[in-house]
Amino acid sequence: MRLSKHLLVWGPSILGLAASAVLVHGSEALRKPTFIEMARELGIEVDNNGLCLESRQSLTPQEAELVDVKDADLLGPKWGCVMFSQNLNRERGVAGHDFPSQVLALTRAKAAQGLVTVNGAIKYMGIKSGGFHYDVEKDPLNSKQVLITVRINFGGIYPDQKTDMQDKLDKAAQFWSDNSPERALRFSFKAVEDTENPHFYVGFGRGKKRTPYYQTWWSDWDSDLISHEIGHMLGLDDEYNQLRVTFSSRRANPVYTSQCQFGSIMCTYAWWAKPQKYHYYLILNRVNNQFASQTDEDFE
Ligand SMILES: [Zn+2]
Repeated sequence: MRLSKHLLVWGPSILGLAASAVLVHGSEALRKPTFIEMARELGIEVDNNGLCLESRQSLTPQEAELVDVKDADLLGPKWGCVMFSQNLNRERGVAGHDFPSQVLALTRAKAAQGLVTVNGAIKYMGIKSGGFHYDVEKDPLNSKQVLITVRINFGGIYPDQKTDMQDKLDKAAQFWSDNSPERALRFSFKAVEDTENPHFYVGFGRGKKRTPYYQTWWSDWDSDLISHEIGHMLGLDDEYNQLRVTFSSRRANPVYTSQCQFGSIMCTYAWWAKPQKYHYYLILNRVNNQFASQTDEDFE
């Protein structure tokens, strides 16, 4: 089954904007990539028409036959196409897409001019709109690196809990940095006071619960889960099938349950899952391609 429906949705919204961007600037140097060109540069498999080789519907029965998580990853590149398309469809406040091969150089050039705050939103699960906010700048500690910062204010957190949370945020930041392309990115996630210009205000509770997105974080979350949750603050959508995960029985085949790429941190927060190349691409692309003067309300 082909993802033609996806392209119909995605095509006009993104390609239309890309085409107008070229007209405005009138320069071939600013040409925006097609989906095929983006996918190929990101190591994602597409056919010659620029369609994903598989869809969520066609991958699900294949996944159902697998029982080992390691085997599930064989489907990774195919899921990657589906998930990259999904993210493109759901991000708001993005005015176009640059070639993945150029995005790091373009980000460095922009960051050299000064700090950029990226603001936009994604439509989680295609339904609920939530903002993403992060700062991008030249790393003051290493001029070859780009520094990406997220500051979070936790409501009602005690000082010892804040210290503990900062340890986990540091681990999550290290994880995002270590897996970045060419290790060119340094991530910094900070638990801050109200007066320190937070990007996010999040409730804080004792224990360990799952609550929707960044409404409340919990004291017993581990750094793997925090790495996943930070992914949302960086504007990445969940990749698992939420209905399926929520309503499946405990004894259900774990591979069949999630319907996503098990190697991806936005699919699962298991210890082996990592940020993917297309995740970093989406984060960096917005530095040069965000609409001006936007607020959360623009994306409701
Ligand atoms: Zn999530």
